[in-house]
Amino acid sequence: MNSEQTGLEPSGAADSLMEKVVNLCKRRGFVFPSAEIYGGFRSTYDYGPLGVLMLRNVKDAWWRAMVQCRDDVVGLDAAILSSPRMWEASGHLSNFTDPLVDCRNCHERWRADKIGGTCPACGSADLTEPRAFNLMFKTYAGPVEDEATVAYLRPETAQGMFVNFPAVLQTSRKKPPFGIAQVGKSFRNEITPQNFVFRTREFEQMEMEYFVPPAEADRWFDYWCNERMDWYRKLGIPEEKLRLRHHGSEELSHYSKATADVEFMFPWGFDELEGIANRTDFDLRAHAAASGEKLEYFDQASGERYVPYVIEPAAGATRTMMAFLLSAYDEDEIGGERRTVLRLDRRLAPYQVAVLPLSKKESLEPLAREVLGILQPLCMCDYDVTQSIGRRYRRQDEVGTPWCVTVDFESLEDRSVTLRDRDTTEQVRVPIDRLATEMNDRLAT
Ligand code: ATP
Repeated sequence: MNSEQTGLEPSGAADSLMEKVVNLCKRRGFVFPSAEIYGGFRSTYDYGPLGVLMLRNVKDAWWRAMVQCRDDVVGLDAAILSSPRMWEASGHLSNFTDPLVDCRNCHERWRADKIGGTCPACGSADLTEPRAFNLMFKTYAGPVEDEATVAYLRPETAQGMFVNFPAVLQTSRKKPPFGIAQVGKSFRNEITPQNFVFRTREFEQMEMEYFVPPAEADRWFDYWCNERMDWYRKLGIPEEKLRLRHHGSEELSHYSKATADVEFMFPWGFDELEGIANRTDFDLRAHAAASGEKLEYFDQASGERYVPYVIEPAAGATRTMMAFLLSAYDEDEIGGERRTVLRLDRRLAPYQVAVLPLSKKESLEPLAREVLGILQPLCMCDYDVTQSIGRRYRRQDEVGTPWCVTVDFESLEDRSVTLRDRDTTEQVRVPIDRLATEMNDRLAT
């Protein structure tokens, strides 16, 4: 297997936390190497039964903060395959490139801006001159494969928001400052996909374009930097593993007036989770010029017509899920026994509750299923009857389930169950009649 398939650095110097998390992901059904029965496929991954739940929770938490709990942001789900004219106007066809270098010694390929002048695989400094490599995936729309049918998989979701700006403005009756949010897949033909799901060729993004009067852009840029840092903190990333790094003028993209990256302390050092940029009016003007349509706002109250500036917080859902997993991973000792525990926020954990009948005896099953039926409409539940109760608690701790509900023989007498907390392992007895209220309270805090 090469480094693309294992997701580990070619040097083999994988950090042990990284190895533990990658192994746990595979062993417990979070993330599998794609098409593993065929030996995997070039750094692509499939999200298993637990991974799909957690990834959905990451995206839901973002949507809740960015759309549901606000009245100034609306949603969008734009096409992945769309007009190539859009990519020409946005500059992606000419500019969306990474500098590619080849090692003349071992023939590995690298992104010149991510290595320090020597080949990370063999250490040779004999590298070719960098050349621009376009990251767009190309395909053909229709039965004829020629220049006229060339189409591209989107490399970011943002352009969908810009080209739909007039339609959204008209139908939503919003006015600046307002935003359009989108979550979905993007594709980039990355030169060196690596570090598990940190950098893959197919990934999911969570992006929002916030349209503002130009004079207010600086203020809104600061506002979104604060909001986004808060989002990660509130969902459990420790303060010391998070930082906001402002780009210097030499690092800014051609369209950006200011950019700051939200960075997480990955096992290899601080690296980007999200980019927040003041994109000015670059995109709306570029699409207006290329399409001939007016992409501007007319303020009826003041009689003023202007092209809004755009503040864009652009995050990666899959990369962020990895950061949450890395920061939640812990090992401790309970009653003299070592355990692995994912201290995931309850909103991100794949299951919020596991219902566990104490034994496999049939007499417990009807009541355990009754309890499951009470909890399933409230949150995502697991139901597990095999192995000893201690082993089953460990299994739930390892995948981050915040609470376990145990139905035992006493439950048949007193219609109460044991509610166990993942982090403290504290157990309390709760009457089944009060279980829904108790869980709703815990889920709400
Ligand atoms: P980089 O410089 O690392 O290639 P970028 O600055 O080009 O990334 P953006 O275009 O700002 O990334 O994309 C916004 C977010 O989308 C990133 O912060 C990241 O979380 C996510 N993202 C971008 N490329 C990938 C990828 N190949 N795999 C996984 N997530 C990605």
